[in-house]
Amino acid sequence: MEKKQSIAIEIALQTQVLKTCPIHRQIYFDDDADAASAFALAIELVRKQKPYVEEFHHDEHELMDLLSDTLSATPLCCPDCLGGLASLRERGGLVESVLEGR
Ligand SMILES: [Zn+2]
Repeated sequence: MEKKQSIAIEIALQTQVLKTCPIHRQIYFDDDADAASAFALAIELVRKQKPYVEEFHHDEHELMDLLSDTLSATPLCCPDCLGGLASLRERGGLVESVLEGR
């Protein structure tokens, strides 16, 4: 996995927006989580110039975009728990509404 994407995933995991299935170790998007908290943390890390996000060269927009892409690409439930039926629908709209609300 690309390092930048793994940073975005880490941020989402830290804010509990993405969760890891304890059984399958698959990452999924928590529908009840506040996705805005992941974006808020991402902005904070970049603005404080944390070494953790230096890959982004203080470009918070790049991190926002990647985080947004990552969240919309992640299934709503562990795909293995659901037998691969996880749906990606309704996700694009959710992430967009979070971004618009900033
Ligand atoms: Zn699972």
